[in-house]
Amino acid sequence: MRIAILADIHANLAAFTAVLRDCEQRGGVDEYWFLGDLVNYGPDPEKCIELMRRLKHCAVAGNHDLAAVGKLSTRFFNPDAATAMEWTIKQLNPQDAGFLSGLEPAQERGDFTLVHGSPRDPVGEYLKSKGQAEENFGYFRSRYCFIGHSHEPLIFRLGEDGNTSYVNFTEGIGQVIGDFRLIINPGSVGQPRDGDPRASYAMLDIETSMIKLYRVAYDIGATQIKMVRANLPMRLVARLEKGL
Ligand code: ZN
Repeated sequence: MRIAILADIHANLAAFTAVLRDCEQRGGVDEYWFLGDLVNYGPDPEKCIELMRRLKHCAVAGNHDLAAVGKLSTRFFNPDAATAMEWTIKQLNPQDAGFLSGLEPAQERGDFTLVHGSPRDPVGEYLKSKGQAEENFGYFRSRYCFIGHSHEPLIFRLGEDGNTSYVNFTEGIGQVIGDFRLIINPGSVGQPRDGDPRASYAMLDIETSMIKLYRVAYDIGATQIKMVRANLPMRLVARLEKGL
């Protein structure tokens, strides 16, 4: 069984479709696991929701998904995110909103827990440091956990001595999903922030217990033109080509 792990698509249809094409070219996958933030920032919220609904998927809610359906205040959003959210809300038809409303904050699939932010705060926490990871291992029951939210690919491993370490998670290098507990972030499909503007996702192979990170080039300019036409904030348009 092969599973594509996707996070933070953020209404970027060009990036999303490029990732799906990449999965097909690698032999296809059985399921898509999505770690939240399907909408906001990008120009195609409704098309991204419709595409996700057609895939065999298991998805959780991100903070932007919840804000888009009034389940989370945008009070703590930065001004650009709040402006984009106002536009996003206007694009959603009742079915799209219903799909986002129905997303749970966490899902368990076998040995894996899926959340957006972190196990202890599925909606709000940006889990980026070893100290945070160490504390968060106490907040989920399964052996492994997938997270999104920070838009940066990362793996944390809990060692036998109780200490947490970073595992190298770079493009194309397989990592074994073994005895040690892991927290894994596949990076962001639609708005990477690790300095590489290409879409980021991971492929999990349950039979071989391997996970691999992939980066996919897509037509960034096409997404940017749509954003400009929609009058979305220029800072959001510009950051796509920098991957920051
Ligand atoms: Zn996000």
